[in-house]
Formats: sequence, C-alpha cells, structure tokens
Amino acid sequence: MSLHNTTTECNFKVIVIGAGIAGLAAAHHLERAKRQGNAPKGLQVVVYEQREGNPITDKYPAQLSEDARQCLTNIIAPASYSDLVDLSDYGISHGGVNILNNDLTHLFSNKKYENEQPQWINRKVLSSLLSDGVNVLRGRRVVRVRDLKDNKVEVVLDNGTTELADFVIGADGMNSTIRSQLHPAFSKTPQLPFILVQFKLATPFPQIPKAFQRDCVNLVLGNSSNSTQIILFSGSQLPLMDPKTAIKLSEEGPFAEPNDEVKAVQQALEDPKCGFVLVRMMIPTRLTQDWEDLTDGSWIDKILTFLREDGTNLELIKMIENDLVPATIQASPIFSSEIGKAVPFKEGRIVLIGDAMHVVPPTNGNSIAAALKDAQDIAETLLASSELGGADGPLQTLLPQNHYALKTRSEDYLKKSLHLLEVSNQTGIQGFLHRGMLRSMNWLKSF
Ligand SMILES: Cc1cc2nc3c(=O)[nH]c(=O)nc-3n(C[C@H](O)[C@H](O)[C@H](O)COP(=O)(O)OP(=O)(O)OC[C@H]3O[C@@H](n4cnc5c(N)ncnc54)[C@H](O)[C@@H]3O)c2cc1C
Repeated sequence: MSLHNTTTECNFKVIVIGAGIAGLAAAHHLERAKRQGNAPKGLQVVVYEQREGNPITDKYPAQLSEDARQCLTNIIAPASYSDLVDLSDYGISHGGVNILNNDLTHLFSNKKYENEQPQWINRKVLSSLLSDGVNVLRGRRVVRVRDLKDNKVEVVLDNGTTELADFVIGADGMNSTIRSQLHPAFSKTPQLPFILVQFKLATPFPQIPKAFQRDCVNLVLGNSSNSTQIILFSGSQLPLMDPKTAIKLSEEGPFAEPNDEVKAVQQALEDPKCGFVLVRMMIPTRLTQDWEDLTDGSWIDKILTFLREDGTNLELIKMIENDLVPATIQASPIFSSEIGKAVPFKEGRIVLIGDAMHVVPPTNGNSIAAALKDAQDIAETLLASSELGGADGPLQTLLPQNHYALKTRSEDYLKKSLHLLEVSNQTGIQGFLHRGMLRSMNWLKSF
C-alpha cells in the first residue's frame, strides 16, 4: 500500500453491512487508520447490523489459523491483541478429547502460553475488541443496495429509510442479501444434504456400552445416520497437559494423533464421576423434510423413529430413549463450500467480503482467516485509493485486483480444508474416518 497523503480533504462515507468478524474488522481497520492519521478525517464508517444484541456467541471458542493471527496483529492494536490472549482463556479441543465444557478450560489455557500465539479465542472478546471505536447501528437490516453509477450507492433499510454511501462493504454472512442481489446465480448458500442434530444424554460415560466407547468419540451406526458420534463431557478433574503439547496438537489440527498425555486424559474420562455425553448425528435432509415446527417431545420421537428405521444398535436407542435431555436438542443445516469458488467481480462500488463472498470450511481456523484477510485487504485498498488520498490510483482500477486476491486466497483455503479432510481419511486418525465425512468430501469435490 502506498503512503497516504494526510493533507487530503475529503468526505467519504463507507457503509458496512453486517457486524460479524469480517464487517467489524474492516470498519475497525478504517477507523484505526483515521485515528493514526492514515486516513482523511472526512472518512465516515457506519456498520448496520440486523440484530439488536451482539449475535456472536461465546459458547465455544473459535480456532484461529496462523494467517488469522498474523492478520489480526495488523488490524487491532498490540495492546488489544494481548487482551485477546489474556481474556480468551478457553479450552481447546481436538479429536478424541472434547473440552468445550467450562469445567475443562484449565486444559489448554491461553494464559499458560507465555510468548505463544493464541490458537483458540473467545469470539465475544474478539468481537468486542473489533467493535472498539466503530459506529455499529444495531437492529438495522439492509434490504437492498443499488449502485447509482455516479459513484454513489443507495442502501435501503427495512424501516424504509434510505442512506447514500460512497462505498458499500457487504459483510452480511453466508446468507447474504447483498450477494443474492448482485449475483442471483449465487443467491442461496449451498448446504450439504444433511442436518446436524445434537443432544445431550444424562448417561455417564462408563455406563456406555463398551462397543460405543471406541476412540472415546466416534461411532458409525445405522444405514443413513452416517456419522453418529458420542462426545464426552467430563465433570471430574482431568490431568493437565503441557501447554506446548497443546499448542503442537492444535497446530496439527483436529486430526492430530493422540500422544501419551492425551491418552491419559482419555483414560481419566472413564472415571465414574464423568458427567454426560453428547450425541451428534448427521441425518440426510431427504429424510427430515417433514421435521418442521418441532417441539422437544416430537424431536425425540422423530430421532428415535429415525434411528429404529435406520437399523441403529438397539442398545444405543434404548440409552437415548431413557437418557436424552430434551432441552439440549439442537439441529442445524451443514453448509457447503460452493461459494468458496467465489462470486465473479462486479463493477461498481459494492464489494462482498467474508462468508458473504465465499464459504470456506472452518477446518483449522481458515474461515476466520479468510474473513479477516478480506477485511484487511478491502480497508487497505480503500486507504490506498486516490479517493481517500492514497497514491495507488482510483478505486475502479484497484477493486478488480482486490477481488482477484480475495478469490485466489479463499480458493486456496478451500483446498487446504479439503486436504485436511483427505489426510484424515487416509490415516483414519482418531476414528474420524466415517461415512459422513467421506460423503461430505465427495460432495465438496464435485464442485
Ligand atoms: C458453529 C461454527 C463454528 C465455527 N468455528 C470456526 C472456527 O473455529 N474457526 C474459523 O476460522 N471459523 C469458524 N467458523 C466460521 C466463521 O465463524 C465464519 O467464517 C466467520 O464468522 C464469517 O464472518 P462474517 O463476518 O463473514 O459473517 P458472519 O459472522 O455470519 O456475520 C454476518 C453478520 O451480518 C449480519 N447480517 C446478515 N444479513 C444482514 C442484513 N441484511 N442487514 C444487516 N446485517 C445483516 C448478521 O446478523 C451477522 O451479524 C465457524 C462457524 C460456525 C457456524
């Protein structure tokens, strides 16, 4: 990026749609540049977020790849980055040991990694750091954008008000309204033909039949429920692991081979004081078409009927029947990666970033890396443009290059994620080799 001419006077309004990681990061980068005198004072940035509260959850941590961490150090101030490390004192997980339970956060605490980079961070902390100094207007849903061809963009909100901007960043996530308008051919995010259903059982792990305990984690059951997994949550103290081992394992990704330390943890999970298990199933959507408007009770019915028809082990069915905790049933579609191929470039002053532009599987923290890098790139492109006093030329010549970089990168991340799945397939590490994954792989490959 060329140096910015701070004497430039200009009024330039950027509207960002969506206060997810991508939108907040882009807005934060621009605001920070302004504070540091690297952007004109007349630069105005507004983020419209459809939800009233902060939609980002801190129920589970997010994995950050090395790229993502590097990118974050360019976007947020060094002090904020240290805060992220300190405040994201979360457990991490890898195949075989799932430690998203609060009781287990001591296992891979970030605080123990003096001088190390955080692998897993608290999403809410990240979001609040990125929101710092950013004007986020919540409860404002954008319903339409229109390039007015005179270097202005019209943004229409669901309350009927219209705003004019000099530039619009569509960061409205995988079901992006902006994408479906600009690129009708990519209007819907493709989903894998499965839904993920998960629920908690009150059964302590030692009471789970031995046949289901293989690898402490995964089971292949039934004819169609192609990946029923049993994941353990422990209520008892588990052995501490050396933080370096934790870092190494998490760097190796979710399919890392367990070493002695991990095995010790797995063994401890067999303690009778163990809490409960979580069951996860991927169910083909063709079999769930009439599963609408479900109450807790009917969910249980549907799941049990499905498992029976699916030829699932009777012992497991009985266990689910007796011990399923109704309030814990959750179901969600599984998105695919077709958008990973990235939408084509459109002229004008509206760009897409993050999941709105491409859906990269989150494997190894690649999705957030893509979102952060897109945000950094578009902010830097704007700052380098002659419109904002930069020396790299007008936006209309810079944007195609920006788009090309974003497209190439997201496709590269997609390939990496697929590779990881393939490695796990070849090695069968940790029992992750199951039919669901194979099917997902083949489906992803068909694009
Ligand atoms: C369960 C789960 C776990 C994940 N774990 C990881 C992980 O560990 N590591 C990783 O790298 N990635 C992970 N990902 C993926 C990662 O969260 C996403 O890639 C990333 O959050 C994308 O950010 P985004 O800002 O592009 O989109 P989003 O986070 O989806 O943000 C879009 C925002 O736009 C708002 N919005 C939508 N439409 C409108 C509208 N019309 N008007 C105004 N606002 C609108 C939404 O409310 C939302 O706040 C995970 C995803 C899921 C679902």
